[in-house]
Amino acid sequence: MTTINGFSDSQESDLVNEEDMKVLEKSIDFIPEYWMQNITDDKIDENYELKQQYVEESKPIKDEDEEQYYQELESSIPIKEEFAGRHNFQVSLSNQDSSKHWVYSPILKKVFINMEETLPLRCKWDPPEDGLLLRTAMVFSLDQYASDPVKRCHNHMAPNNPSNRDINPRVIKHVVRCTDSNSMYEERNEHLSVVTPLHRPQPGSQYVPLCFKFLCKNSCPSGMNRRPTELIFTLENSERTVLGRRRLPVRVCSCPKRDKKKEEAEVIEAQPNVKKRKLSMPVGKKMMPSCDTHIFSVQLNIVGKENYLSVMKYAYDIMAGQAARTGQFEFFKPYMDDILRKTP
Ligand SMILES: [Zn+2]
Repeated sequence: MTTINGFSDSQESDLVNEEDMKVLEKSIDFIPEYWMQNITDDKIDENYELKQQYVEESKPIKDEDEEQYYQELESSIPIKEEFAGRHNFQVSLSNQDSSKHWVYSPILKKVFINMEETLPLRCKWDPPEDGLLLRTAMVFSLDQYASDPVKRCHNHMAPNNPSNRDINPRVIKHVVRCTDSNSMYEERNEHLSVVTPLHRPQPGSQYVPLCFKFLCKNSCPSGMNRRPTELIFTLENSERTVLGRRRLPVRVCSCPKRDKKKEEAEVIEAQPNVKKRKLSMPVGKKMMPSCDTHIFSVQLNIVGKENYLSVMKYAYDIMAGQAARTGQFEFFKPYMDDILRKTP
């Protein structure tokens, strides 16, 4: 595909508007209601793994003291396994609007967001009864840091930082804040979480919208210190029993689009087959299973820069989605790169 627009490489594709996003969602598997549903066993009990270990080591466990003991264990090393539970607990992203402050990567299944900007999420459970809680905790993604609590850096925690003005001192350490004013900020074994009471969805709605903000960056040296993080959402009852769990990798950064592109490129680079095939077979000569490999060159005259960008973005994301589904990153990459080169 060629273009005479002459846009430079540094100009990346813009976010698409809502209508285009809907089209995108259909085509690239970024269906908000879908992405956190990859679960293997809905009936896993919250303490299943821990119980399992102890049952094997010693004796069957039933009494309540030990339930408490597991709760504490869970607090020191956060559990991340997703399960929908009997309430079919789901957390999904709201449709991305024209905001440039956050972006979702379907390839990485990860959100990239600016500090202090709002991430809108939807929380769903069935039946949508009152009295349940949503606990949201930020944790380190890598196992070697799992026991380290995620806290804000010294700089952002400083009392004179504008983000701490009129803020309850209990809240200051927390990277994640929920904009729901009824939220409670908790600390267990130094691990921080925010607990938001859930009320049944408004009539006509299947979910409860909630918004979160992040008050420190992943790059902050005395805080997260460049370690990748993710949000762990747990649906809990009033006894704080975990009824479902979901996770969402999040990076808080200054340039969400740039970081998304960089991390996606790293994943593509890391594909084990890529280098091998580069040595053995020219790109495009290999037949791919269940994937149309014909190349169509398109020359279009599009009125309006935004429209042009939408078309380019759409083409890029369709191929990114297909590359992710088929694992054929090597095949798609030159064509995706070509679009990036032609996109301001
Ligand atoms: Zn910070």
